[in-house]
Amino acid sequence: MRGSNETGPHAAGSGSWRERYSRQIRFAPLGERGQRQLGEARVLIAGCGALGASLAQHMVRSGVGEVRLADRDYVEPSNLQRQTLFDEEDARLMLPKAVAAAQRLARINSGVKIVPHVADLNRHTLPAIAEGVDLVLDGTDNAPTRLLLSDYCFRNGIPFLYGGVTGASGMTASLLPGSTACLRCLIGDEEGGADAETCDTAGVISPAVEFVASQQAAEALKWLGSDAGLRRTWLSADLWNFRIRESQLPPGRHSCPFCGESSAARIDGPRQIKSDRSDVNQPKNEFDGASGAAENPSIGGEADSEFEPSTLLEAVTLCGRDTVQVKLGTSFHLPELHNVLERRGFAVTKNPYLLRAEFPDPDENGNAEKMVIFPDGRILVHGTSDAERARQLCNLLSL
Ligand SMILES: [Zn+2]
Repeated sequence: MRGSNETGPHAAGSGSWRERYSRQIRFAPLGERGQRQLGEARVLIAGCGALGASLAQHMVRSGVGEVRLADRDYVEPSNLQRQTLFDEEDARLMLPKAVAAAQRLARINSGVKIVPHVADLNRHTLPAIAEGVDLVLDGTDNAPTRLLLSDYCFRNGIPFLYGGVTGASGMTASLLPGSTACLRCLIGDEEGGADAETCDTAGVISPAVEFVASQQAAEALKWLGSDAGLRRTWLSADLWNFRIRESQLPPGRHSCPFCGESSAARIDGPRQIKSDRSDVNQPKNEFDGASGAAENPSIGGEADSEFEPSTLLEAVTLCGRDTVQVKLGTSFHLPELHNVLERRGFAVTKNPYLLRAEFPDPDENGNAEKMVIFPDGRILVHGTSDAERARQLCNLLSL
């Protein structure tokens, strides 16, 4: 039984299973039965920034059996103010967040299976990454990904614990297929408007992150380890002026294909423990010699054949970050690419998971555009928020 073996990995260097989780076991609503259920559970934490890092820590410390982490980004110094799993060394090494988080989490609890995915969550990658999970926790920072997650969860009968933070404010809701409305019905495209504020434009303070993560994590423990029902409210809080509002979540909207009458995915009663099965999502790492993660991280998960011509050079501006993510319909062999770029005069730095190439010609202020290249065919172009410019720069490389 994963996660509840009293002489297994939980015991290594950390006492017995019962001792390790004694304070949770003494908490009556969970008890020993709840603790064992947690050990059997699988969760996906989507996004490994501030919210995701906090959520991951709660899930791993509490002994959830399998914790999957998905994030497309790498650690930068500006993350360290609030993203509690990362340190200056992670930023110096430019480690992917999913990898850095997995390394840290493995030191916190070696009895939990931690599966990092260095990947953009999209309709191609999500099904394999989320296959078989009991719960999806929202640690993302943008509406399109949240809506994708909500759609997937409502199609597949998986609870989706939404959370979002900006400035000193946050909101969270537990969205349950067959019971509540889906996120698409609750926010529509409102959050995705061009003027929507994000952490990158409006800033954020870490207590607001922790407040929202705590609400999400408490709901996760209730769902995974007890028969208690989830909170059926939309909770929003402003910690600076201390205002908290709670409103009842509406039921599914009749005509919605995700939460309406036509949706077949419903959750009736408490969570059922799924039987154990082998992972459908074998970790893979396309960079020779990669090491150091708790397990080899899955890089991308997008096979070439999954790309359609229309997705070639797909570019998305990351709001407020002066960065564009460009997706190419090909994967990269990083050691080869490293040699090519150096021959062309780029200043290249690398780690086992990505390459950073600085353009040889800085502007009059000495600033050069930079590209951070992942093996799955993604390039983060820093120094521009113009998608067309980013495409041109990627084309210049003749990749
Ligand atoms: Zn809906």
